[in-house]
Amino acid sequence: MEIILSPSPNFDDRKHAVDMLVLHYTGMVTGQAAFDQLRNPEAKVSSHYLLWEDGRVDQMVAEDRRAWHAGVSSWQGDEDLNSRSIGIEIVNGGHDFPQADGTLPPYPAAQIDALIELCHPILAAHDIPQTRIVGHSDIAPLRKQDPGEHFPWVRLARAGIGIWPDTEGADVSGNGLSPGDSSANVRRMQEHLLRIGYGIDLTGTYDERTEAVVRAFQRRWLPERVNGSADTRTLRRIDAIHTLYTAD
Ligand SMILES: [Zn+2]
Repeated sequence: MEIILSPSPNFDDRKHAVDMLVLHYTGMVTGQAAFDQLRNPEAKVSSHYLLWEDGRVDQMVAEDRRAWHAGVSSWQGDEDLNSRSIGIEIVNGGHDFPQADGTLPPYPAAQIDALIELCHPILAAHDIPQTRIVGHSDIAPLRKQDPGEHFPWVRLARAGIGIWPDTEGADVSGNGLSPGDSSANVRRMQEHLLRIGYGIDLTGTYDERTEAVVRAFQRRWLPERVNGSADTRTLRRIDAIHTLYTAD
C-alpha cells in the first residue's frame, strides 16, 4: 500500500517499546480539518497514521517516536499509553458529526480494507498482544467515544486484528445489574472488567465510572446495546471476553 509521508511536529521520544495499538475516529467535520489539526504545532496532537475514507494513508509520526493521540488513559494497569502504542486516526465524523438522519456515519469498505492492510505489518513488526488492540474509548471511557459503536470490530477480528467472541459466555441468572446497585455481583463484574484491561475501581457499587466502563465495553463488544446498564446479555458478553482475555 502507498503511504504518504506528511510529517507532524507533534511527537517526542518513547519511554517504552510498542506493545499496543490504539484506534480512533477523527471526529471532525472533514478529513482535511483533521489533517490540519494533527499537524498544527499549537494543537499538540498527532497520530502515527491518518486513514482517509477512500483508503489513502498519511504517516505523520515515525513508529519509533511517541505520537500524541491517547491523552490521559489506562489499559491493563499501564498509563502513558502514547509511549507504548501505535495510534491510527480514521477519518469519520463520529458522534459529533452524524448523518442528516441522526445515525453515525458509516466507515466505507475501502477504508476498512485499507485499515486491515495497514494493521497487518504493524502487528508483524511489534510485539502487540491481541488483548492490547483497543479503541480510544476503551482506554479513556469517561472522556472518549471513538472509534464508536459503528466501527466494525468484528470484521477486524476476522482478519486477525483483535478478539471477538464466538460464544455467548456463561449463563447469568437474575435481572442484571444497574447503576446505583451495590452487591457482590457488581464487584465481580468490576473484577472481570479490570482483568480485561479497563481502568475501574473495585468498589462493589455501580458508580459513575463503572457505568462509563460498561458503556465502553458495549461500544466494543455489544454495539447494539450501548446504554451503560449491565443486563444479562451484557454480563454474559463480559464473561465471554474475560475468559478469552485471561486464557493464556
Ligand atoms: Zn481518539
